[in-house]
Amino acid sequence: MASGGRRDYYEILGVPKDASVEDIKKAYRRLVRKYHPDANPGNKEAEQKFKEVAEAYEVLSDPQKRVQYDQFGTVGDMTGGGSPFGEGGDVGDVFGDLFETMFGGGFGGFGGRRNPNAPRRGADLEMEISLTLEEAYRGVTRKVEIPRWQSCERCGGTGAEPGSSPRTCPTCGGKGQVEQRQRTPFGEFVSVNTCPNCQGRGKIVEKVCSRCGGAGRYRDRRTVEVRIPPGVDRGTRLRISGEGEAGLNGGPPGDLFLVVSVRADPRFRREGDNLHVEMHIAFPQAALGCEIQVPTLEGLQSLDVPPGTQSGSTLRVKGKGMPRLSAGGRAGDLLVRVVVDVPANLTEKQKALLAGLAREMDVSVKESQGLLDKLKGFFGA
Ligand SMILES: [Zn+2]
Ligand SMILES: [Zn+2]
Repeated sequence: MASGGRRDYYEILGVPKDASVEDIKKAYRRLVRKYHPDANPGNKEAEQKFKEVAEAYEVLSDPQKRVQYDQFGTVGDMTGGGSPFGEGGDVGDVFGDLFETMFGGGFGGFGGRRNPNAPRRGADLEMEISLTLEEAYRGVTRKVEIPRWQSCERCGGTGAEPGSSPRTCPTCGGKGQVEQRQRTPFGEFVSVNTCPNCQGRGKIVEKVCSRCGGAGRYRDRRTVEVRIPPGVDRGTRLRISGEGEAGLNGGPPGDLFLVVSVRADPRFRREGDNLHVEMHIAFPQAALGCEIQVPTLEGLQSLDVPPGTQSGSTLRVKGKGMPRLSAGGRAGDLLVRVVVDVPANLTEKQKALLAGLAREMDVSVKESQGLLDKLKGFFGA
């Protein structure tokens, strides 16, 4: 059943042969997100990669299969004969299971036997949300579009057309699996296989729901309005309860996680809850002190620059940084770095005044005598 030659599973996941289970999980999560058909609509190559990644992960995440693969370069019958997707299977059919493996149901779930009719929690979803610094400061309400499995409202998730109801599979009695007993000279062997009559669902749907085709759920895009609180930062994960994938067999939905990214701002640099801004002032302002208008995320604010402020020194405006995300937390500060500009392109009068200042301060400057003569002219001294 396996198509073509065996590919190197380590190469597919991009991990070394001695990679830890944790590294394999990480690589798998990253690649599944990258090649997920939702992120690559209509891209056959991504779909193929997606399948390969799942296949590689199925083997390398299972210690027993991994040992066998390392030794023999194949896992033979242990995977049930090749790809977990079967031939010509629709990738969409396996999303739920994959996502459950990724987020919800913990790892190592492949091949686990469980009641197919038991309620299963829907998978969690994760999306990135990009904000401006101002939005992060004030908080914002955003509409996010989530591609996800939607529980079918027409059939109530049963997969059966309204008016009919699914009945328990007579072959397996609803278990989804059948046992085969074989007597041999060595004893009795029991093998457990997926029920061929109901394909493991445990139920037979005679009249398939026209909305979902019998799956009990369908792929949909849903718009959810989310409130982003003030103070979020790059990497903040917001959990929106119950907005993940629909559950199966009446199980609860998963959660939606929004991972925040904050775009760079031309004025402010953020450091934790503090904001940094740079202000240029003229030399006399630094020497004699002044009041300047500094930008904050709430508009301009006046700031007192004390006499004798050195270039490169930092003044603090308390509470004008980012709000703290945790309730009741104190807001950060605005840190103003003052840069004292050395004047260039001076008028004759300005030059003469500076020469006078230099003389008063007893420091030598170029061509001071000529300038000082002019100074007398300007002031009639
Ligand atoms: Zn339906
Ligand atoms: Zn059955």
